[in-house]
Amino acid sequence: MNFELNEEQQQIKYSVREFAESEIRPHVMDWDESQHFPDELRPKLAELGLMGVLFPEEYGGAGMGYVEYATIIEELGRVDGSVALSVAAHNSLCSNHIYSFGTEEQKQRYLVPLAQGESFGAWGLTEPQAGSDASGTRTTAVRSNGGWKVNGAKNFITHAIACNTLVAMAVTDKTQGSRGISAFIFDKSMEGFRSDKKENKLGMRASETASVVFEDCYVADENRLGPEGEGFLQAMQVLDGGRISIAALSVGIAQGAYEAALKYSKERQQFGKPIAEFQAIQFKLADMGTQIEAARLLTLQAAAMKDAGKKTTRQSAMAKLFASETAVRVSEESVQIHGGYGYTKDYPAEKYWRDSKLCTIGEGTSEVQRLVIAKQLLKA
Ligand SMILES: Cc1cc2nc3c(=O)[nH]c(=O)nc-3n(C[C@H](O)[C@H](O)[C@H](O)COP(=O)(O)OP(=O)(O)OC[C@H]3O[C@@H](n4cnc5c(N)ncnc54)[C@H](O)[C@@H]3O)c2cc1C
Repeated sequence: MNFELNEEQQQIKYSVREFAESEIRPHVMDWDESQHFPDELRPKLAELGLMGVLFPEEYGGAGMGYVEYATIIEELGRVDGSVALSVAAHNSLCSNHIYSFGTEEQKQRYLVPLAQGESFGAWGLTEPQAGSDASGTRTTAVRSNGGWKVNGAKNFITHAIACNTLVAMAVTDKTQGSRGISAFIFDKSMEGFRSDKKENKLGMRASETASVVFEDCYVADENRLGPEGEGFLQAMQVLDGGRISIAALSVGIAQGAYEAALKYSKERQQFGKPIAEFQAIQFKLADMGTQIEAARLLTLQAAAMKDAGKKTTRQSAMAKLFASETAVRVSEESVQIHGGYGYTKDYPAEKYWRDSKLCTIGEGTSEVQRLVIAKQLLKA
């Protein structure tokens, strides 16, 4: 068993860290305050292969695996959760759905520009009345003129406004429950498909989250992803991969918050010495460091299993659950170690804390992860 990244993986980690420090760190608070979605990063992300991390070169991707992917998302999350979330949603949700279930033609038409960063991807499962219970999807697709007429809405969609391509789930047969849901690829230029309200969020404020609306939107049958009725099952498989990226994002946020706390604890003096010399602060740092290591190991285990072609439903959910709750705990302790200054925007601790909370909600809440894990454990 080898717990070290190999030389190539370390090189990837180093170059993403350098990129995040130089191109993202200086702007983090401005983007957060103004909720600016930094689409201007896209060419640079593409140059580094970060718009198509998981896809083979023949589809315009970087041909990397999940261990590299988790490492990349962690490094971005260490500096800015929003950019990491954006890269994760683009890669493991929209693009990966097309890569995993699309035809060769769909891959050439949609995946190649996504992987090369020429287009931005979004993925629509959640609806106002169907969140944790995604099988309760109400958006409908009804056969019409050799294609489908789609009506309904999706909310909380990452890149709903900036995207060119959206993969979304819609009910094609009401009588079949979750087996009556199919997946479709939408193009922003399609008539009857538009984005709507942008959310004003607690954290992840530089990641764009908005609704999409379908009003008699005609989509050709050639844009259906896989067989009719398999959209929900496909979405669950896509989430097995996606949850590894949210776990990695959580590890990155926790790492960033911990580093900020460590630095501050050595600088801040009270009672005539640095607060790092108080055992109460040392114990906090020890717990933070230990929990981060554990979260990283769970994440890399799920990633390595995915690279080995194994089913990771349980490991992905465990990594996502543990890492996201670690991110919230560690970033809260980081605020505590910063004292009153941690409560201000002059220090990065409060932003890590705000950003971390998304990780226990997006791609399935902590409660849903526990349901998934328990189901897998009881099945064994
Ligand atoms: C910033 C952001 C970005 C997002 N991006 C996307 C995206 O790109 N695409 C997309 O499709 N979705 C996206 N989402 C949606 C996200 O996946 C959902 O918010 C999440 O799945 C929870 O659904 P909900 O908000 O409707 O909460 P609800 O399902 O209403 O849950 C409310 C509470 O009830 C609990 N609960 C629900 N059912 C159960 C149960 N059976 N047992 C125990 N507890 C339960 C939940 O855990 C939660 O605590 C995003 C959300 C956010 C905030």
